[in-house]
Amino acid sequence: MTIQKSMKGQRVVVLGGSGFLGSHLCERVLGDGAVRVVSVDNYITGNADNVAHLRGRPGFEELRQDITEGLSVDGPVDYVFNMASPASPIDYAKLPLETLRVGSVGTENGLKLAEAKGAVFLQASTSEVYGDPLVHPQREDYWGNVNPIGPRACYDEAKRYAEALTMVYGRSRGVKTRIVRIFNTYGPRMRLNDGRVVPAFVGQALRGEDFTVFGDGTQTRSFCYARDLIDGIVRLALSDEMEPVNIGNPREMTMIQFAEAVRAAAGGGGKIVHKPLPKDDPKQRQPDITRARQLLGWEPRVPLEEGLRETIAWFRSVAARGSTP
Ligand code: UDP
Repeated sequence: MTIQKSMKGQRVVVLGGSGFLGSHLCERVLGDGAVRVVSVDNYITGNADNVAHLRGRPGFEELRQDITEGLSVDGPVDYVFNMASPASPIDYAKLPLETLRVGSVGTENGLKLAEAKGAVFLQASTSEVYGDPLVHPQREDYWGNVNPIGPRACYDEAKRYAEALTMVYGRSRGVKTRIVRIFNTYGPRMRLNDGRVVPAFVGQALRGEDFTVFGDGTQTRSFCYARDLIDGIVRLALSDEMEPVNIGNPREMTMIQFAEAVRAAAGGGGKIVHKPLPKDDPKQRQPDITRARQLLGWEPRVPLEEGLRETIAWFRSVAARGSTP
């Protein structure tokens, strides 16, 4: 098999192409010279505005399809990226069946498309496969500590099933599969009300409200800027690595420290107030990115302060236009 060095000249399908990460991926591969980029979305959590700036670019297409109902793309395809799923705890609590279906039936439809086209298939998995991890930091050979019946199960188990399915299509059906385990990621085009901590704190800072820290705020996360994350995903797609690879930023911090970082970057904001900790909220999360470094030559480059500045500037510009992302 010839390994491509870049997306130049490639034909790419992005499932969930109008979502937060999907739209960044469409933009990146078009910029790299992909000759065809098809964004497939049913817009239940994706937003058509996220790809508005790509409309009219040569090779860019949008298809409104629910990949749990079926998936049909004409013509040759070299890469299928499956970025389709509700991904914030609030979204998947509202859409639990849709989340289970897109991780299972939707992923299989994506795999079948890749099989039919002879394309590489990349599955966006998640650090949630590690659940509330008993091993720290998380390496890819850790199997996780997931509650299969809790409020996060629809997402965590769908993503675990999607990994199993992807490996089966890779091992027994010869599809060229890749699995990326995405850790907390932030950047422009997150939805202000998706409930995740980054838009929540940024929105609060911009409105001068208090920061709502859940629990005592000692739980940790590690935040990767979207541009860095997308670069890792593209490198993985271009590699021949079938086993899962963590992509995320190893800089770990507590939610109290994170609120302070947002306050510093936004130049204001209120005090910290505590709210109840949601059930099964993981206590710590930090990727071990040794495999990404060794196999892909990848590591994050954008410091949190810079990424937060860009993210805050984007949320400000959207607010100035009077729209809510
Ligand atoms: N969190 C918080 N305040 C908020 C939203 C989230 O303290 O307004 C916490 C949440 O309890 C979790 C962390 O921030 O510990 C990250 O939450 P998020 O929903 O962004 O993603 P998760 O990593 O839990 O999927």
